[in-house]
Amino acid sequence: MRKPIIVGNWKMNKTPSEALAFMKGIEEVLTGNEAADYGVGAPYVDLDVCVKNAKNLIIAAENCNEKDSGAYTGEVSVPMLKEVGITYCIIGHSERRTYYNETNEACALKAKRLLADNIIPILCIGETEAEYDAGNTADVIKTQLAGSLAGLTADEVAKMVIAYEPIWAIGTGKSATKEIAEDCCKLARDTVKALYNEATGEAVRVQYGGSVKPDNIKEYMACEDIDGALIGGASLKVESFKEIIDATK
Ligand code: 13P
Repeated sequence: MRKPIIVGNWKMNKTPSEALAFMKGIEEVLTGNEAADYGVGAPYVDLDVCVKNAKNLIIAAENCNEKDSGAYTGEVSVPMLKEVGITYCIIGHSERRTYYNETNEACALKAKRLLADNIIPILCIGETEAEYDAGNTADVIKTQLAGSLAGLTADEVAKMVIAYEPIWAIGTGKSATKEIAEDCCKLARDTVKALYNEATGEAVRVQYGGSVKPDNIKEYMACEDIDGALIGGASLKVESFKEIIDATK
């Protein structure tokens, strides 16, 4: 049985004091006995205050560097995240792939390094609108997964979270239908099965992301191959994230 996992992605939002206010508001509603795991991905400077004020919420970083230390100005390493108490890290988000040239190869290296320190990667994949319109969604999913999981063992992949986020649905209000989301999450799982084995595909948790809101989260969660969601805009306010928790706990 896969435990669902619902994670907010704050992106470049919230100062540390704003993050603290969110943590105080959200922790009130979590008991730790929910049927799903809940978390937020936060900017680096917010991570310490989030971890210190988290009781039941998972705190994720939004990126990492695959090297341990060195002359890489502006970068943050996995040992640094580990010491702060981070347990999950988003990698390969489409915004990082688009604006910061994050490649499948870089994702594979980051995933390997994170897993070596028992930090769970949340690997984002998903096609552009043009790729969707051209009927290339399946190819994109398969290529991104093959490249981003290169060098990882079946045991490592089984621990991971994959977030299928069609770029045309991110921040647009134009969410994928539950049928499209389910088909693509199933394809991601089947791709893992083809690359590894049945058990690994059954173990890996697959999220849908893209304009997930309190009023549509339930229909995604009811789908067989969707094990949760990665949520941008609707994770920023305590009220709407609470509504999402209430709809799914
Ligand atoms: P929205 O929920 O704002 O569409 O963002 C999705 C996303 O990019 C989560 O990583």
